[in-house]
Amino acid sequence: MTTSYPDTRLLIDNQWVDAASGKTLDVLNPATGAPIGTVAHAGIPDLDRALAAAQKGFETWRNVPAHERAAVMRRAAGLVRERADTIARLLTQEQGKPLAEARGEVLAGADIIEWFADEGRRTYGRIVPSRNLAAQQLVLKEPVGPVAAFTPWNFPINQIVRKLGAALASGCSFLVKAPEETPASPAALLATFVDAGIPAGVVGLVFGNPAEISGYLIPHPVIRKVTFTGSTPIGKELAALAGRHMKRVTMELGGHAPVIVAEDADVALAVKAAGGAKFRNAGQVCISPTRFLVHRSLKDEFAQALVKHAAGLKQGDGLAEGTMIGPLANARRLSAMTKVIDDARAKGATVATGGERVGSAGNFFAPTVLTDVPLEADVFNNEPFGPVAAIRAFDALDEAIAEANRLPFGLAGYAFTRSIKTAHQLSHRLEVGMLWINQPAAPVAEMPFGGVKDSGYGSEGGPEAMEAYLVTKSVSIMAV
Ligand code: NAD
Repeated sequence: MTTSYPDTRLLIDNQWVDAASGKTLDVLNPATGAPIGTVAHAGIPDLDRALAAAQKGFETWRNVPAHERAAVMRRAAGLVRERADTIARLLTQEQGKPLAEARGEVLAGADIIEWFADEGRRTYGRIVPSRNLAAQQLVLKEPVGPVAAFTPWNFPINQIVRKLGAALASGCSFLVKAPEETPASPAALLATFVDAGIPAGVVGLVFGNPAEISGYLIPHPVIRKVTFTGSTPIGKELAALAGRHMKRVTMELGGHAPVIVAEDADVALAVKAAGGAKFRNAGQVCISPTRFLVHRSLKDEFAQALVKHAAGLKQGDGLAEGTMIGPLANARRLSAMTKVIDDARAKGATVATGGERVGSAGNFFAPTVLTDVPLEADVFNNEPFGPVAAIRAFDALDEAIAEANRLPFGLAGYAFTRSIKTAHQLSHRLEVGMLWINQPAAPVAEMPFGGVKDSGYGSEGGPEAMEAYLVTKSVSIMAV
């Protein structure tokens, strides 16, 4: 089944334009490997124009009252909902995920935009009683300035809206380098803001060479805030660069989520919730459950049920009816999966299901369950970012907690237990930014979203997300 797929251009000053050089990159459909379109490749002259537009856009937008900013954002969210089917089809064609997941991502995007639109209306300062009654002391919250955002290919819509929503609601302009591999759905998202009447320059969209663009935008004096979602090594590089130029930073980086299945867990619930979360978007999710730590008494039962779940997933082109798991988003993930599974097998793990590429066209990899995985296996140390569940048994809860906290990552965690005491203990002792107990991940706009340790800093949900785009000004006015 095919559907039309457009070539993607840059968005500068509310105009859709080609790169000044005319250069483009091919976009491939991961289900077939075939080129389906192109994306404009920005050079420095394009970035200069985009930066000038972002500066102009900021001067305009910061002076638009919050409730009018909210109205534009709400109109855009409405257009995202109206166009959800079209945007979802673009997303599936360029990224691979099943259409229902793509549609869910687009609709969640509209919800996030609306939540931030409303939150922006509640950005208050304070009046602080003065020691001198002739003086009035004010604490003002102001937008930090033009934002440079860098977003990845696994959730082309969602990774943008969490940044865009908070930035726009705060009064910042927003220039995003979106993923070259999945460019059309981000362009369709930003088109809703243009069509909703956002002033020129407030939003901008570029693609090109990621290192060249970040190397130019982050130090640039127009940019006041940097936000990145992607891998930990790249995040560290960009945070260091931002640090050298004293730019505010939010980093959403890699994770390696532990799933603790305690002795008193509901195994059927654990398999349904963690299994569903594991293979969503073919495991290419920063909060994907990855290290399954199962009490020894439940390990075989849990592993068998998870194998049954994985083996029952219908794999195929995301546009095809009934597809439950699509291809990996790019060929790099395919070779990464092969490598990680070969390593686990060589170190003594059992491949209980999957473990290999499926077919020779497209980037399909079988949903995989590994059991008895030794701690030294790569899959238990580096984020697999693919459809692989690795299982190990534990005997005492303390042992599982120590293993969960062993790695430098600290993004998401999951646990299954019927004991409120265990739930409380895990809430306090797990070194993660987000913890879901007895349920799959349910990231909603109103809850903080972010990590600790090498998984980054800052939050992309809840009121904390607004703080990231605001600066505080302390003002004292003496009546004379
Ligand atoms: P990668 O590390 O090369 O790239 C990750 C993302 O960062 C991509 O979107 C890429 O365009 C961007 N990027 C890379 N170098 C950059 C630079 N110098 N400046 C600005 N942006 C830059 O790896 P990849 O092969 O695209 O993805 C693989 C790994 O990335 C995964 O194993 C996973 O750990 C991580 N990743 C994480 C997320 C997430 O949601 N946290 C999303 C996608 C990828």
